[in-house]
Amino acid sequence: MRRPKHRSIERLPKYRVTIYRRQPDYEWSTEPNMKAIFNSIDRLAKTGDLPDEELLALITTGDKEAVGRLSARAREVREKVYGRSVYIRGLIEFSSYCKNDCYYCGLRRSNRSAERYRLTPEDILSCCAQGFDLGFRTFVLQGGEDPFFIDERMTALVRQIKERFPECAVTLSLGERERESYQALFDAGADRYLLRHETADKEHYEKLHPAEMSYEHRMKCLRDLRGIGYQVGCGMMVGSPFQRPEHLLKDLRFLQSFRPEMVGIGPFIPQKDTPFGDRTSGGAGDTLLLLSIIRLLLPQVLLPATTALGTIDPMGREKGLQAGANVIMPNLSPVSVRKKYLLYDNKICTGEEAAECVQSLRDRVARAGYEIVVSRGDHPSRQ
Ligand code: SF4
Repeated sequence: MRRPKHRSIERLPKYRVTIYRRQPDYEWSTEPNMKAIFNSIDRLAKTGDLPDEELLALITTGDKEAVGRLSARAREVREKVYGRSVYIRGLIEFSSYCKNDCYYCGLRRSNRSAERYRLTPEDILSCCAQGFDLGFRTFVLQGGEDPFFIDERMTALVRQIKERFPECAVTLSLGERERESYQALFDAGADRYLLRHETADKEHYEKLHPAEMSYEHRMKCLRDLRGIGYQVGCGMMVGSPFQRPEHLLKDLRFLQSFRPEMVGIGPFIPQKDTPFGDRTSGGAGDTLLLLSIIRLLLPQVLLPATTALGTIDPMGREKGLQAGANVIMPNLSPVSVRKKYLLYDNKICTGEEAAECVQSLRDRVARAGYEIVVSRGDHPSRQ
């Protein structure tokens, strides 16, 4: 593809957006003037914002030099805020039951092939104890929307963890609940809550979820969590079915206005027993690009290099750190259940992403130029 000749920015017309086919629902790239796009990247790094048109041009750029510059700026900003520290969170996937039927998820209730399990409070506490010894100071309790875990059970569990590990943060990722429930969990000691918004476009949301789930309720949950005082995490899949660059632009605008403390993004990866089982995965490159943009839009945000990124690219998490991420979430779940928590196919669930291999993870992170630290790793606004 021929690159247009450089022209002065003043005389530059609007960005030219060229559409080409890449995969069924997600197929754009731009071919803008490179001088202008470098200028946009530097301005984004300096001011933390860009007009829609320029942000869209960044989201869709396929130019290696532009991506490299974006990544370098994101690293600079990340290092200014967090130095070279990488925070680790011990992920405990405690229930694979879910009452919902999201079209993209292997745990959806209609998936008869999914193996279901629930960990007992004793199992969970023993995961925490193992994690504590390995240097974890945050435990992330993640599960499907499992009606078994009513407030009484969850609050008792959170209290027990906080009593036994008072210097640790507890992050919950239990999906949508009512405000009273979030409040009760917060009062029991939970510090943070992860609830991916998945897409900030209502129409797109409705293509990813059945009619019984509502975009409005998802957004209300996020507002409730924020109002209660949690450190809140949201995020979206990259390359999900029907996603277009304008949706990602809306996601970024939503993140800017909501200002979550954490943002979790990962590539969409199909799971064969779901309605989207034959769809194409999102790209590692697109995910890395968005990590860099998010770091520049929200310099202080806690940004994980996710397991999904490590699944589609064996070096995905190291690349994520170099693109501006500063968090890794190794799996602390008992080995016997790891393969059963199959949100998507081929999820990495043994090896160096596992918490017990934390020393080899430390080495890998060190080779990428960073350092795993023993810390709760709160958002700077909460330290
Ligand atoms: S994405 Fe979450 S809520 Fe939806 S089916 Fe999967 S576990 Fe359940």
